[in-house]
Amino acid sequence: MINLILFGPPGSGKGTQAQKLIAKYKLVHISTGDLFRYEMGNDTPLGREAKAFIAKGELVPDSVTIGMLRNKVEAHPDAHGFIFDGFPRTIAQAEALDALLEEKGTSVTALVALQVDDEEIIERIKLRGETSGRADDSDETIIRNRIAVYKNETSPVYDFYATKGISQSIDGIGGIDEIFERLSAAVDRMASIAKV
Ligand code: AMP
Repeated sequence: MINLILFGPPGSGKGTQAQKLIAKYKLVHISTGDLFRYEMGNDTPLGREAKAFIAKGELVPDSVTIGMLRNKVEAHPDAHGFIFDGFPRTIAQAEALDALLEEKGTSVTALVALQVDDEEIIERIKLRGETSGRADDSDETIIRNRIAVYKNETSPVYDFYATKGISQSIDGIGGIDEIFERLSAAVDRMASIAKV
């Protein structure tokens, strides 16, 4: 089983690259951002709870996010593995993910981080906001807050897996296919180290 964490700041291209990784490695893609948007679109209690946090560019509380993630993983008992996109975003989420995978007799194979500088990210997100219809993609103050939250709360997750020897950073600037080549090479290398 290959379990990948696709890591990086908002707008670093995780969603785009996840689509290509799914096709190549036949993994189940779980994007907590997409799950929240689905719940908000259907105006469910979970969606209503998440909405105020997302609108401000803050993280949805761990208790809500971890429960939702667990449900999604458990909905795919026959998966060959998962791509976690936008999760874990806190150390508590990382610990919960490790515990959940351990229960299933597996573990995180690799965390691969896409590196893109702040100014490029802001431009990319604003451009995406023109068509995504996402309020959190359209306001520069909210975008900057999302980047600050990433630095303060999420980037320690990179170090958490680095101490286990499974974090890897790659250059997230360039063409989509070029970045995918770098990403696949990193995944193949990490999977061979993990002997999966
Ligand atoms: P994303 O599409 O991954 O950029 O997520 C959009 C927004 O959803 C984030 O800015 C957060 O408000 C919320 N969100 C997504 N994933 C998580 C997570 N793992 N933990 C907390 N909040 C999250």
